[in-house]
Amino acid sequence: MKRRKLKLANWGPPVLLGIPLDHNSSFLRGPAEAPLRIREALRSNAWNSWSETRVDLGVPSAYKDAGDLCDMEAADAFERIRRAIQQILEQQKRPLSLGGDHSVTYPILSALGERVPGVTLVHFDAHPDLYANYENNPRSHASPFARIMENGLVRRLVQIGIRTLNAHQQEQAKKFGVEIYEMNRLPNLARLKLAGPIYVSFDLDVLEPGLAPGISHWEPGGMTTRQAIDYIRALPGPIVGADVVEFNPVRDPSGMTAMVAAKIVKELLGKMIAG
Ligand code: MN
Ligand code: MN
Repeated sequence: MKRRKLKLANWGPPVLLGIPLDHNSSFLRGPAEAPLRIREALRSNAWNSWSETRVDLGVPSAYKDAGDLCDMEAADAFERIRRAIQQILEQQKRPLSLGGDHSVTYPILSALGERVPGVTLVHFDAHPDLYANYENNPRSHASPFARIMENGLVRRLVQIGIRTLNAHQQEQAKKFGVEIYEMNRLPNLARLKLAGPIYVSFDLDVLEPGLAPGISHWEPGGMTTRQAIDYIRALPGPIVGADVVEFNPVRDPSGMTAMVAAKIVKELLGKMIAG
């Protein structure tokens, strides 16, 4: 079927979509429980509903919520993620997906990249997730960006906050022309000449694990929540979609990481709405 390319004008409100899938995690399960916990934190009475961009996310029309996808253990889970993202885009709305492990970003981008040409993918992560084949699982959460680049789904991939580059992933980055900004040389966004449409993939393990320990792969030496929010604020628009992935509630007995994840979601929503 020939896919209709979508025009960038008149984008509707962001739509939350929960993707409770964690069977492509290489180390720990748990992120399947994240969408529920992030929504609870978003609606918590512990804070008000405004983003720092002065958007009241408590107004019912501010954004939509498509709920959670079901049966994410099934063999056709990726295909159903693709279809759900397609549906949101066909309505001229913009998906903000709640992972799930990072493997979900590939089916999301296969729907989005087909319809929105020339996407710049801005990826926050401790890990480049560029493995050609990790532990014999080409769908591993360690590989989504290899799949995205092999399939030419985005124009540009910019990775920020990386601190685990090994020889294989350096080769992969070179092969695909990935622009990597490691944690020890964080970029000034203005110098990157980013242009829309922009998609943001936010792996919570980009943050210092002491600040957000509810993740599967602790990699000390990360970003502060403040730095991450400032990066989101500084992105040029339009942001056509985003995901927040790898929150692992099993490692979050205090509920602190749920609040950090919800804060990132709030600021992504606020940025998408305010521009
Ligand atoms: Mn990741
Ligand atoms: Mn990661």
